[in-house]
Amino acid sequence: MIDRTVFENKTAAYYTLGCKLNFAETSAIGKVLAEQGVRKVRNGEKADICVVNTCSVTELADKKCRQAIRRIGKQHPDAFMIVTGCYAQLKPEDVAHIEGVDLVLGAEQKLDILSYLDDLSKKQGGEGTIVASGTKDIRTFAPSCSSDDRTRHFLKVQDGCDYFCTYCTIPFARGRSRNGTIASLVGQAKEVVAKGGKEIVLTGVNIGDFGKSTGETFMDLIRALDEVEGITRYRISSIEPNLITDEVIDFVAASKRFAPHFHIPLQSGSDTVLKLMKRKYDTALFRHKVEKIKSAMPHAFIGVDVIVGTRGETDALFDEAQSFIESLDISQLHVFSYSERPGTQALKIAHSVDPKEKHLRSKRLLDLSDGKLQAFYEKHIGEASAVLFEHARRGNAMHGFTANYIKVEAPYDDALINEPVKVVLAGWNEDKTALLCNRINDVE
Ligand code: SF4
Repeated sequence: MIDRTVFENKTAAYYTLGCKLNFAETSAIGKVLAEQGVRKVRNGEKADICVVNTCSVTELADKKCRQAIRRIGKQHPDAFMIVTGCYAQLKPEDVAHIEGVDLVLGAEQKLDILSYLDDLSKKQGGEGTIVASGTKDIRTFAPSCSSDDRTRHFLKVQDGCDYFCTYCTIPFARGRSRNGTIASLVGQAKEVVAKGGKEIVLTGVNIGDFGKSTGETFMDLIRALDEVEGITRYRISSIEPNLITDEVIDFVAASKRFAPHFHIPLQSGSDTVLKLMKRKYDTALFRHKVEKIKSAMPHAFIGVDVIVGTRGETDALFDEAQSFIESLDISQLHVFSYSERPGTQALKIAHSVDPKEKHLRSKRLLDLSDGKLQAFYEKHIGEASAVLFEHARRGNAMHGFTANYIKVEAPYDDALINEPVKVVLAGWNEDKTALLCNRINDVE
């Protein structure tokens, strides 16, 4: 039985590091505490409770989490500090050692936070209490949906991963692949409509693997969501190449609400390196997916993740990878530098890449990406398109995105915010970060 008196007149501050999934989960934790009467702190106010949701995708991410926890501890010296998320799941002792930490909650416990908050008195010295399960016992799918502004909402549809790519620790931090039911997710999409939201981004760890824990399929999910009246657009945040089936591509092309915007992790353009990573496809399959998307939706935006400098990636294999990527009709690259992760199979691969060389490879792909993005934007200048403008400070230029993920800039007009507006795309804005536009009178 929750003792509500513990939360009377309490305030909380929330901090999130890492991915959209983490933001969605922090927002869900905030809702749980708000239902107990806990108010969010105002700027500059000292909090009674601090929740820090951590990331552990790279060594640098771990370091940033430690720095953030110390900084937050100084900002809110009397607050009961709770640390959760992937770093807390993977390194609970390290986190519990950090001064100011009172409670470390694992992945299985984070959304059941109330069960561990019967006493909010701050620990005087000593280590934080750890409540976490082993990775194999992480079973619960905790629903969550958050919004970075009133236009776009991030709906968590899946969690965990069964793939165990050799460079990745996420399966150890988030457990086995599991998901919410289609009925509950359609219900959450309707709640977004009720709140005036127009765009939903489907998030998860391996969302194409949706259905593992409910016996449903990703195709069933997107078909059901496409019927929710009031949503203008859905975006599929990221989907594995081997899981983006031709059926999914054809469905998106013909759908009412799914945007022609794909984010597909390639990780390497070399089949030899893909094998070392234990990825579940080769470059031929990846090329087929890109060509299939472009034949079904020539205007589609395709963003691609690539890791540079993984173990085993020799100079020759990187050159091979770069020329494969150059040959693809894609729109943008997200380039990550390989980071050694404890407990991963990749550490058994002898060949490692010098940090300087990693930096050079990263630069080469980022330059390549700039060229592809510029070409993609310029190809659409002069076209009519619908933009969902996001909130902006009064008087400032406002920005929004087309369905095929082109950033558009327009003079401030609050009547247009969060409404699909028909425009003709014009040339670049001053700092070449967005296209300007001319309004077409009729607003859809
Ligand atoms: S698919 Fe691979 S890279 Fe992605 S979360 Fe799973 S193990 Fe990690």
